[in-house]
Amino acid sequence: MPDRKPFVGGNWKMNTNRTTGSDLARGVADGLVHVDGVDVAVFPPFPYLLTVRAILRDRGSTAMLGAQDVYFQGDGAFTGEVSCAMLKDCGVQAVLCGHSERRHTVGERDELVNKKLRAVVEAGLTGVLCVGETLDERTAGHQDIIVSRQVRTGLADIPGAHTERLIIAYEPVWAIGTGNTATPDDAQVMHAMIRGALVRQYGAEIAERVRIIYGGSLKPDIARSIFGQKDVDGGLVGGASLNAADFVSICRASGEASKAKG
Ligand code: PEP
Repeated sequence: MPDRKPFVGGNWKMNTNRTTGSDLARGVADGLVHVDGVDVAVFPPFPYLLTVRAILRDRGSTAMLGAQDVYFQGDGAFTGEVSCAMLKDCGVQAVLCGHSERRHTVGERDELVNKKLRAVVEAGLTGVLCVGETLDERTAGHQDIIVSRQVRTGLADIPGAHTERLIIAYEPVWAIGTGNTATPDDAQVMHAMIRGALVRQYGAEIAERVRIIYGGSLKPDIARSIFGQKDVDGGLVGGASLNAADFVSICRASGEASKAKG
């Protein structure tokens, strides 16, 4: 079994304010003290990055600071956008690229997602490439075609050496924020398919090292069975990450599942 340390991210989306975000950061930092064997990141909204960073630092937390998005250009005349350099300046270590809400609400396409991911890994940040099919695509049986295209296009021109800073999040769109979760078997099938796409792109050795995490209505009670699957290396958590106890419990489940897999 390859040695892939699991990763769990808490995507706060456009939620919290300075007070509730601070409380949440404190709760996560304190709760994680007794959790091991898992890399954890929180992804607050941009305006709260520095506040959350200060809280994680003050508490000596190992949790990483993440950003929900970035623009691929360097600093310059790009009104409303945020660069990798700015994120690094704020202590960000990981960035989500191509989250389904950006693909389907804002209209980001594979090519833009690829530019963002390239900028992120070239800047030395960890990039979390989010992929996943819609309900219509799954109903039509097109999930493999859609997701492998998102992986292939998303990773275009990213050299193997940069995959150390790459995580892939498989997030079926029909499961995000809906309360519907993929079954553990369905998640495993898709994760194995994604790993196959990575083998074609980078060869087996690199493909075995890349972490592929699951996202879609993860809750503490179902996390363990999903994380127990061979190719599921953690999770990306939306709704449940807004409750520190639930999020920490999901992180713990991930560490335990990884140990049980050996
Ligand atoms: C997400 O935001 O990536 C996500 C999976 O959300 P939720 O857990 O709420 O489905």
